[in-house]
Amino acid sequence: MNELTGYEWIKSCKICTGDQLVQLTNSPMVNYYQCMSCLVIFLNPQPTLATLKQQYTRKELLDTGPASAWFKHDKFYLKELCRERLRDVLRYKERGDLLDVGCGMGDFCGVAREAGFNVFGTEFSDTYAEQTKKTVGASEIYIGRLQEINFSGRKFDVISLWHVLEHLPDPLETLVCLSKLVKTGGIVVIEVPNVEQKRKRPMYRSDLEDYTIDRLEHLFYYSGKALQNACLKAGFKILNLNFVDAHQPAKNMAKHFLRKIKRPSKQIVYMGRPNKGFSAMRIYSTVSPNDFL
Ligand SMILES: [Zn+2]
Repeated sequence: MNELTGYEWIKSCKICTGDQLVQLTNSPMVNYYQCMSCLVIFLNPQPTLATLKQQYTRKELLDTGPASAWFKHDKFYLKELCRERLRDVLRYKERGDLLDVGCGMGDFCGVAREAGFNVFGTEFSDTYAEQTKKTVGASEIYIGRLQEINFSGRKFDVISLWHVLEHLPDPLETLVCLSKLVKTGGIVVIEVPNVEQKRKRPMYRSDLEDYTIDRLEHLFYYSGKALQNACLKAGFKILNLNFVDAHQPAKNMAKHFLRKIKRPSKQIVYMGRPNKGFSAMRIYSTVSPNDFL
């Protein structure tokens, strides 16, 4: 294995400390491995914090040209997506202090504030955070790594991470930190890509084949089981895990409808094994009140 500057080897699982790690891909510089104990899949070697800082502060993140990611120039769709997420959250909590971790450009913060939440956000990238302060305005945006932010004793009724956990180099540390920031009876909602989605190539293989090393932003990939393992390890009580389509729900509904007409047998497979049909999953957790007795 070549030495890669700004990257470090992971010798034991960052979630369960297991050392039975199996290499899943065969690329010259970096690869995805799976921990046989907790089942999480992760990039190895992984970028150091300094490397991540460079990746997430590059100016192109704010580009709106044709080379930018789809979500940055489809504001209308993104708002619909955030509204769907909020409707789901409202089943658990209707008001209170909401912290969106990795709030990006502040789209979810904006929708949650419209619904009456007292909104806060954290963002690792200064590039995004400065932009978010402009768009979200009065909301409190904290810049930096979650575990290094001083919240002055504030706790939250809702903490959300929308496609954030898979980007973080320290998922367990982050989850433990979340368990301390959520109020008793509050909820933490985490949505991540579903690595078990049935595709031509597994997600981690597509990443390796389609992106250069400095654009491999997904450091961890979770199955439903792996995500539950991680949340339990951090001391959470799991309320619900459901599978969702992360991207363009309206478009996907149309796609699934067409699939049903054209290939009914495929649809039966899809219905029978729902976790394989969805691109993402959403887990709701809480801290057990017993912890506070
Ligand atoms: Zn593990």
